[in-house]
Amino acid sequence: MMPSTAPPSRRKLLQWLGTGALVATAPARLAQAQSALAAPPLLMDGHVHVVNRVYWESIDPWQAADGGWDYARARAAGVNCIIDNIGTYGAWNYDYTPKQALRLIETFLRFAESHADRMGVARDAAEARRIIAAGRMAVFLGCESGWDHEGDPDVLAAFHRLGLRVVQFATQTGFNAFSDSALAQLQGRQAPDHYHGINERGRALVAEMNRLGILIDITHGTEDRLPVVSQQFIP
Ligand SMILES: [Zn+2]
Repeated sequence: MMPSTAPPSRRKLLQWLGTGALVATAPARLAQAQSALAAPPLLMDGHVHVVNRVYWESIDPWQAADGGWDYARARAAGVNCIIDNIGTYGAWNYDYTPKQALRLIETFLRFAESHADRMGVARDAAEARRIIAAGRMAVFLGCESGWDHEGDPDVLAAFHRLGLRVVQFATQTGFNAFSDSALAQLQGRQAPDHYHGINERGRALVAEMNRLGILIDITHGTEDRLPVVSQQFIP
């Protein structure tokens, strides 16, 4: 109970409010804690590349294999959530990259549909948890090495509709229309500081990815900071 004479200290007030809040929300908190305890533990592999092998080698990764990653052994080890990254290797061109990404996404979706009893495509955390709770493998779709060198926001939005939730921003070859690449010298014989990081289109894409809910994989990005932002804050 609040003292009626002197005003309470901040500490006392917080204690009083905390007690009241706990009593008021106790059933909701209890239900939340119970459902968290009932949910199976999450064991996630955040970087898998198996759809590329389905596309190029026609393997069935639900069959255990000696080499490489496969669903069978991952599942047996307790993994119940992965990010499968399609990689548009060898299709590094303004026209070919999105086309190859589409081929790989179609392979990914077809593969997931044909094994729907054991896996499901997750488009957000809640969907992943539902898939896992049903005893299946939740699979998020990612893309590395390039999705569209032009960085067209409409292409990005379309990929998002198809389930894309992780995008490696920099290419593995050189600068594209929106970002430098740390591999520019090695792979493309270019200087890695064409934009000193990313340009205006890159910033717009970052905003769009945040709006859509796409996780940005910064692998192969350069060490350059955003020059416009950094100059504002350098005395
Ligand atoms: Zn990778």
